[in-house]
Amino acid sequence: MIQKIIEKASHHEKLTEKEIKDLFKVPVFSKDAFLLLWAAREKSTQVSNGTAEVHAQIGLNIAPCPQNCRFCSFAAQNKVFTDSFELPVDEAVFQARQFEADNANAIYLMTTANYPFEKFIETSKEIRRALKKDTVLVANIGDFTLAQAQELRHVGFSGIYHAVRLGEGKDTKIPLKKRLETIMNAQEAGLLVGTCVEPVGTEHSIDELVEKTIITRDIKPVYSGAARRIPIPSTMLAQYRAVSEAKIALILAVVRLALGEEIQGNCTHEPNVVGAFAGANLLWAEVGSNPRDTIKDTEKKRGMSVKECASILKEAEWTVLSGPSQFYTTP
Ligand code: SF4
Repeated sequence: MIQKIIEKASHHEKLTEKEIKDLFKVPVFSKDAFLLLWAAREKSTQVSNGTAEVHAQIGLNIAPCPQNCRFCSFAAQNKVFTDSFELPVDEAVFQARQFEADNANAIYLMTTANYPFEKFIETSKEIRRALKKDTVLVANIGDFTLAQAQELRHVGFSGIYHAVRLGEGKDTKIPLKKRLETIMNAQEAGLLVGTCVEPVGTEHSIDELVEKTIITRDIKPVYSGAARRIPIPSTMLAQYRAVSEAKIALILAVVRLALGEEIQGNCTHEPNVVGAFAGANLLWAEVGSNPRDTIKDTEKKRGMSVKECASILKEAEWTVLSGPSQFYTTP
């Protein structure tokens, strides 16, 4: 039965909810699992012409965030960061130029959800001015209106990263509908959307994985994949184990097979060889603030460099794209 579903996905036929659920039920160490990983890798390779990408994110600020997502170190209730901090604009510009020099295929600017939008626009303009014309910029910020989406486009962003997270509305204070509205606003303004099934923890049911996979398929993103939740010490969710890299590889492979051939990208985070081997053709480098870290400069702890991400992709036998992101430039 599993083989038939995998064949169907390999022939680019749309999987039903039940078929996606059956794939998620496959045990990690089984013949079916290895067939699934192989098929996902094949599909990723075909749709991205055998190339993988490294995107690089600059976390611009830290602030206790009232949205209180339980999995995030910025959540006010998690009390990891009690003071606010902003990366000076000249340092943000320096980091962006560095990422460009390191051959990152796209540069993301990230803030906490309640960071003032106009301030973000002003910093983004400075960064945009300092970069080459064809360098791809992506916004990873809180929810926004259509008018704000148009402003992002006007400033020179190619797209956004936005996700309906696992536990949205339950482990976060943001209604699922609001996340989807932001994604629609972005698309209406001509911004391309990257997304992911995240942050996956051992507490999540297969039904929720199926639901979120179908959401990422329905929004027609430029990539989706799977990322695991990193337990933040001393927080409520820390009682649940992290999903293993082997398991998240299987999950990202199911997401790959569930999504259509027009979606080139398959992401995973944090970067690892098993996930890239299984089909992930997008990894992220990070500097500055990071919602999975407990120090303000993630490059000193969890955050990987562009070079390290490229090395992981090469270990998984990917050719790393040189130049601007294909994912965020192909309409
Ligand atoms: S994930 Fe975003 S919205 Fe949620 S607490 Fe962290 S910064 Fe706020």
